[in-house]
Amino acid sequence: MPLEHFDVLIVGAGLSGIGAAYHLQSRCPGKTYAILEAREGIGGTWDLFRYPGIRSDSDMYTLGYSFRPWEDAKSLADGPSILSYVRQTAQEAGIDERIRFNHRVVSAEWSTADGRWTVEATRGDTEEAVRVSCTFLLICSGYYRYDEGYTPEFEGTDRFAGRIVHPQHWTDDIDYAGKRVVVIGSGATAATLVPALARSAGHVTMLQRSPGYFVSLPSEDAIARALRRALPARAAYPIVRWKNVLLTMLSFQLSRRRPGMVRSLMQKGVASRLPPGFDIDTHFNPRYDPWDQRVCLVPDGDLFSAICDGRVSVVTDRIDTFTERGLRLVSGEELEADLIVTATGLNLLALGGMRLTVDGRQVDLSQTMGYKGMMLGGVPNMAMTFGYTNASWTLKCDLTCRYVCRLLNHMDARGYRQCTPQNLDPSVTEEPFIDFSSSYVLRSIDKFPKQGSRAPWRLYQNYALDILTLKFGAIEDGTMQFASTLPAVATAEPVAA
Ligand SMILES: Cc1cc2nc3c(=O)[nH]c(=O)nc-3n(C[C@H](O)[C@H](O)[C@H](O)COP(=O)(O)OP(=O)(O)OC[C@H]3O[C@@H](n4cnc5c(N)ncnc54)[C@H](O)[C@@H]3O)c2cc1C
Repeated sequence: MPLEHFDVLIVGAGLSGIGAAYHLQSRCPGKTYAILEAREGIGGTWDLFRYPGIRSDSDMYTLGYSFRPWEDAKSLADGPSILSYVRQTAQEAGIDERIRFNHRVVSAEWSTADGRWTVEATRGDTEEAVRVSCTFLLICSGYYRYDEGYTPEFEGTDRFAGRIVHPQHWTDDIDYAGKRVVVIGSGATAATLVPALARSAGHVTMLQRSPGYFVSLPSEDAIARALRRALPARAAYPIVRWKNVLLTMLSFQLSRRRPGMVRSLMQKGVASRLPPGFDIDTHFNPRYDPWDQRVCLVPDGDLFSAICDGRVSVVTDRIDTFTERGLRLVSGEELEADLIVTATGLNLLALGGMRLTVDGRQVDLSQTMGYKGMMLGGVPNMAMTFGYTNASWTLKCDLTCRYVCRLLNHMDARGYRQCTPQNLDPSVTEEPFIDFSSSYVLRSIDKFPKQGSRAPWRLYQNYALDILTLKFGAIEDGTMQFASTLPAVATAEPVAA
């Protein structure tokens, strides 16, 4: 029996997968496609995470799609609103009808002879193996494991009489009203959870090993609000989007060039929101420079207000052991708790754990190099969406999907059936794919592809530069190698530089 075949197969129905389908439908209307999604619903991250207060930590005018205005009042928006934005996008464009839920893709094998991928998925409901084929594989599987968040090995957890929960596995039955809660961590999740829990908990302690950067921003964007009153949403949205893109780029570039100045500005901002005499140096003075790790946004200063009200305290120390009643710290201090939340991060996972094979040879991701941050050297007809670390994820994913559509249309116009980035320049050296010092990145980066020391193998993490390269740059750049169905076309149209 011949396998069911699609021109494009998208893996994942999160923010990126739905965006990818939208671009494909509108820019390559003749292409057949399907989405294979491991879970039972649309939304990925925004469906999985259910902890109190779950929200974006970048503004929705840039985390939203380029093609669909974000119309909610909140710029730093709650998880359910983001989920309904993604689901509505899918519904209105008829994308939801193309999704096969409960299909976890486990492997994809490329055959040059057949000019196609054979993709195998396991059904979550029946455990049946399903095989389909496609000409182009677009992997939108996010960047972390869904089944398990990261929790370090802590001593004595079995002794603790209360409940221990990782935010990735939060359930509605967790009762924290009036309780003493300790949240371990100082990243975006802790910054979100701590003030949200503090609304009804007895007391919340944010226990951090080391401090991070926090910046308070209004949850509503005043300029967006004013523009929305004066202009239709479709006209106001790109203006606010560009304002936020430029502000984010400016703050990132300034952090890179004048880290001392930015550190001092951020600390002044924090100090102005905390009670006089608060020990900023211990709790809010990071050891690293701004943007060596992601900066946490605090909407309307909610975390700082909760500290001022005495509902939240911050402790900077290391855990010695869990005890029956809570935690003993290396300093000897004891923290009593009824509930301990381990906001200790994610387990990164490249390509949704899929095994890739090219002409019988298994691809070792750690030995590959990312081309334009979206394809892999030596791997034909495959792209992946991977967002920015210093700006909203969707900005890069939108550009990636547009580029893939350009690439597919270019191949159709020239009669090419295969495109493979090949590094032909021996002077390009390898560097880690993500230039971030966060421990969740350092833990797993060796399992990810590398980036190269220069374009098109380098990840510049720069939206303006990526617009030039991905929207307007030459598809035939001398690095992308094409092969054609018709040998005559191959000789008539050599790969151009
Ligand atoms: C709590 C939290 C808050 C965040 N906030 C922000 C923010 O404010 N701004 C920002 O820029 N980024 C943020 N991020 C990063 C965030 O993940 C992205 O912004 C965005 O949601 C990623 O979308 P995605 O579709 O690429 O990946 P995901 O949302 O992870 O979706 C991937 C989808 O692929 C499916 N999938 C994975 N593997 C397979 C497989 N093998 N087979 C089939 N299906 C598969 C998954 O089930 C899932 O549905 C946040 C991340 C977290 C965890």
